[in-house]
Amino acid sequence: RGDSAEPVIPFAQPGSLTRVYAVASGKGGVGKSTVTVNLAAALAARGLSVGVLDADIYGHSVPRMLGTEQRPTQVERMIMPPVAHEVKVISIAMFTQGNTPVVWRGPMLHRALQQFLADVFWGDLDILLLDLPPGTGDVAISIAQLIPNAEILVVTTPQPAAAEVAERAGAIALQTRQRIAGVVENMSWLDLPDGTRMDLYGTGGGQSVADRLSRAVGAPVPLLGQIPIEQPLREAGDEGTPLVLRDPENPAARALREIADKL
Ligand code: ADP
Repeated sequence: RGDSAEPVIPFAQPGSLTRVYAVASGKGGVGKSTVTVNLAAALAARGLSVGVLDADIYGHSVPRMLGTEQRPTQVERMIMPPVAHEVKVISIAMFTQGNTPVVWRGPMLHRALQQFLADVFWGDLDILLLDLPPGTGDVAISIAQLIPNAEILVVTTPQPAAAEVAERAGAIALQTRQRIAGVVENMSWLDLPDGTRMDLYGTGGGQSVADRLSRAVGAPVPLLGQIPIEQPLREAGDEGTPLVLRDPENPAARALREIADKL
């Protein structure tokens, strides 16, 4: 092939059997990466072939959450991704030195994403999850151009302010004509030792995003699940073993596994 030719992205070809989910959120810190790695691990544990592309170039916490410090290797023109917990994973963090912040502009980002999608040896994936940066930025637009058949998964917390920005993140799917696979509400409540439930961040955000996106796209957008606040979920992320593997019966892990079953 000539070097001027556009790289071929296997997932964007007609007849591709890989389902691609772009995990989006309105703002940072709502648990988008946590949801991404746990869904990936849960799907891989079911025997599916799963890849995660960490496209959150500012956050890039996916390698840590999957417990890998491996770098990709290169075999001829292909980049071989590290495998962690049966999940193939590529992150921009793997191509930077130490903790150097990445200050990339739109066109460079687009090129990097294109390369990650075209030149990484993903093999025959059943599912590819993309961890998008928060908001409605360049990466979401690039993904829509590079993989128009990618479906959007919106992660939000229950409070109205977060729900509003999450809805905006979902609404770009309207412009790009991408399908919205559903909404995941995270940090939905905290179960206290005395058996009561505390709505730390309010209630209703997930359902309200799902309803409003349904109206906007004129098709049902389901609320796929609600994930409680669980300290073990945070600890598992810090330690690099997704909670769905470490403690599958934890309430947050159960919620995540049920969401994975709906994908
Ligand atoms: P984002 O990708 O949206 O920026 P992260 O997935 O990095 O968010 O999550 C932010 C922090 O919150 C992390 O420390 C993570 O472990 C923690 N966290 C996420 N969801 C939960 C939850 N349901 N319960 C407890 N901690 C959570």
